[in-house]
Amino acid sequence: MSIAENISAIRARMAAAAERAGRDPKEILLVGASKMNSAAACREAIAAGIDALGENRVQEMREKLAENAYAGAPLHFIGHLQRNKARQVVGTADLIHSVGSLALLEEIDRQAEKRSICQDVLLEVNIAGEESKSGFSPEALEAAAERAREFSHVRVCGLMTIPPPASVPHGNFSYFEKVCRLYVDIGRNLYDNGFVYLSMGMSDDFEDAIAAGATVVRVGSAIFGRRQYL
Ligand SMILES: *Cc1c(COP(=O)(O)O)cnc(C)c1O
Repeated sequence: MSIAENISAIRARMAAAAERAGRDPKEILLVGASKMNSAAACREAIAAGIDALGENRVQEMREKLAENAYAGAPLHFIGHLQRNKARQVVGTADLIHSVGSLALLEEIDRQAEKRSICQDVLLEVNIAGEESKSGFSPEALEAAAERAREFSHVRVCGLMTIPPPASVPHGNFSYFEKVCRLYVDIGRNLYDNGFVYLSMGMSDDFEDAIAAGATVVRVGSAIFGRRQYL
């Protein structure tokens, strides 16, 4: 199957999942998680109408930018971002999904101010409280979201989460529901209903994420094929 065929198959599954949930399929964005895939593969996905591409590593993103991988589609940053690399992503990525600490948010704000821009970001929620993962705990999220309003060069547009790998089918549905509840409550109480992106769901579980309310899904291997880890 080609990248274009994979994308149209995923679009069809997204639309069916949206309809089952009584939602409008047009309100859900498909982000291609293109890590470890070539600039040519990125261009193919853009030609096939992907809504955005999402990269995980700063170095890889820079290399592929130099190869003109992302022309014609928004570029998102979806991976763990170290503070000392924020400078290379602010103003380059249209949306940073993975802001998991106030220290990182502060650095993004500082870099955005230098460029006189406002950077769109999402707050990452560590919904299962995993030691190995970054992100705000569900308990800490509301206070962080409140504090985030004080930064004038970032705009918090919603939430993102990566639950643990599910051990049974639909195993992450309840995590997705919990994050959606936080998204609705915080968006309403602190952001004047200004939240637009709820980024959750990957190749194995994007339909469950849509059922629970995702407005952005990040799909890698189901579009680009299995990644070749060297
Ligand atoms: C790799 C990645 C994805 C996509 O994962 P697949 O299982 O290949 O669909 C989504 N989000 C993030 C943050 C990723 O790193």
